[in-house]
Amino acid sequence: MNIPKPVVYIIDELEKNGFEGFIVGGCVRDYLLGFSPKDFDITTNALPQDIKNIFSHTIDTGIEHGTVTVVIDKQNFEVTTYRIDGEYKDNRRPENVIFSEKIDEDLSRRDFTMNAIAYSINKGFVDTFNGREDIKNKLIKGVGDADKRFKEDALRMMRGVRFSAQLGFDIEEKTFNAIIDNASLIKNISIERTRDEFLKLVKSDYIEKLNLLEKTGLYKYFIPEIEHIFTNYKKNIFILKKLSKDLRLFFLISNLNENEAENLLKRLKLDNKTIKDAKTILKYLNYDFIDDRLETRKLMSLIDVDLFKKILEIKFSISLIENDLVQCKKYDNIYDEIDETIRKNHCFSLKTLAVTGNDLKEIGITDGKLIGDSLKALLNLVIEEPDKNNKEFLLSYIGKNI
Ligand code: ATP
Ligand code: MG
Repeated sequence: MNIPKPVVYIIDELEKNGFEGFIVGGCVRDYLLGFSPKDFDITTNALPQDIKNIFSHTIDTGIEHGTVTVVIDKQNFEVTTYRIDGEYKDNRRPENVIFSEKIDEDLSRRDFTMNAIAYSINKGFVDTFNGREDIKNKLIKGVGDADKRFKEDALRMMRGVRFSAQLGFDIEEKTFNAIIDNASLIKNISIERTRDEFLKLVKSDYIEKLNLLEKTGLYKYFIPEIEHIFTNYKKNIFILKKLSKDLRLFFLISNLNENEAENLLKRLKLDNKTIKDAKTILKYLNYDFIDDRLETRKLMSLIDVDLFKKILEIKFSISLIENDLVQCKKYDNIYDEIDETIRKNHCFSLKTLAVTGNDLKEIGITDGKLIGDSLKALLNLVIEEPDKNNKEFLLSYIGKNI
């Protein structure tokens, strides 16, 4: 294992001071899977105050949960005291945490066996729940009594499904049945946390695992709108696999009209830009584009170019799966026309029109509506004849036509 120097240093310092220190959780799992970990969590029997005494630069991140951030060379590392979770309320978070002396106890509060492995250079692996074996067998298995663990914290069910889609692992039978039994408890988790897991799932490499949401029933409790995906599932998965990951969500809700989509995305507390983009995409998904340069440029003046391309990508993918190569070719051509317009620097929006509202005021047009209408007329003119996008010509044209 190639553990970064500062992490080795932190564990060494803990040991020099008579404590234990291990890397734990996602980073150990990722190592065993052959991925490079995103971040390193360190777990120790040292109490937060001990950690603060040992290291010169620390930040009290979540001191009440036992987490101290140790700063080494301007990099932050979270060091957390072994803990057992106290009583859980509302299927969400423990009421309180109790610090522990035993690494086994810390591992036992973690969600899945693959996430409950600790490692240090001197002590090797601590793998109380045989996580390495489950990783070898590509299995996601709850630590201890899965049913009890999902009742404690219902988000773990979504994490399980999300990990399954990220890693291509199956969910072990008992764990899976416990998700089925407890699916409705996901309602008790804040929509932001559930949504974040859902979005990670949607962007996963093994998107074919999406139907775990159906098989467990989880989707019914936070996103019943995607039910249509599960009929014609194979075809829909082909399309989802073909699409860029950031477009998948829009395809999943492509059955909705603009209003329905807005309601759903607001309920999921997504940001305004995503909601706006979704509405534009849905509006044009049903639009029958034609392969015509003029028409394409007109659409470029109406739709943000990046979104226009995204819409074409979705339509292309759907046509491809339906084996409609004529339509595919059409979307390809439109895509090329967009690129050509941009490459040739041809005007397709008021932003690059050679004449502005101020120019029109200067030649004596003062009425606001007339200015607006004139600019639109000029834009239509240069969309048809790109060479005419020069100020002198356009102002004289307006002079003659008003
Ligand atoms: P990711 O790659 O998404 O970061 P991760 O496993 O590192 O995956 P984190 O949310 O960073 O996930 O959590 C770090 C570790 O904390 C997990 O590996 C697991 O041991 C533990 N953990 C996280 N969330 C829970 C939870 N809801 N219940 C129990 N243990 C959890
Ligand atoms: Mg992590």
